[in-house]
Amino acid sequence: MSPSTTSSSSSGTAINTPTSSTTSSTSTTPAPAPTPSPAPAPTPTPFIRPKLRLEIRDLAHPGATLFLTSITPSTTLRSATSSVLSLLYQTPHNPTPTRSVTLVLRDKPGVAYTTGTELDSDHKEIHLSLGYVAGIKPADRLSDEITGVVVHELVHCFQNDARGTCPGGLIEGVADWVRLNSELAAPPPHWKRDTSKGWDAGYDRTAYFLQYLEDVFGEGSVRRLNAKLGEGKYVEKSFWPELFGKSVAELWEGYCEEVDGEKKALA
Ligand SMILES: [Zn+2]
Repeated sequence: MSPSTTSSSSSGTAINTPTSSTTSSTSTTPAPAPTPSPAPAPTPTPFIRPKLRLEIRDLAHPGATLFLTSITPSTTLRSATSSVLSLLYQTPHNPTPTRSVTLVLRDKPGVAYTTGTELDSDHKEIHLSLGYVAGIKPADRLSDEITGVVVHELVHCFQNDARGTCPGGLIEGVADWVRLNSELAAPPPHWKRDTSKGWDAGYDRTAYFLQYLEDVFGEGSVRRLNAKLGEGKYVEKSFWPELFGKSVAELWEGYCEEVDGEKKALA
């Protein structure tokens, strides 16, 4: 990405894997007596994280004060990004072209949305409503709710969308599934396993269906689903059987049976 044209190998820093000792270029100076330095503990290669930025467009708004006193934006944004990437991706490298994310707090209707910038969609903006933040009740939900919304929107910055062909309900379901599984914030108390509107109703409804798949087909199932959404266009007939061996209708039926069984057990 950087326009450097020098051939020096001095630029890599954290990206370098712990290398073996095949140094080919350093020459001449005779090596001092090899001190048996303890081998550095292999650290897991981190995801390359995008630049994270914060823009508060009205510091006088009550939502701005609540935002700044409920979370620590520098750490919350970084942890949320790490959490999202590790729930969506296996590979230890930046899986999408997203190079920066700017969280913009401004007075606007609704809750939040994510968009590419005018100049370049590799640079994302999350617009979070100051009015929404100001209205979060009870006050002890502020941190969880702000963090949860940020996690949800960050998913949109990084998830695959089958080149724009993924159903909107699945896009929103994956975002809330990550929010459900991120350990940074408790999910909203009103979320529940609701089967009344089909698998692609989106948000928490689809998130719990995805969690069912994760439970039945093993940890990493949603990661595999996201990976498949990065391979090409979404074709429903083959998408689900190729992942889980069943049609989405059959999978949904299994989920509904489980939810109904729980309801009966509770009755
Ligand atoms: Zn969303």
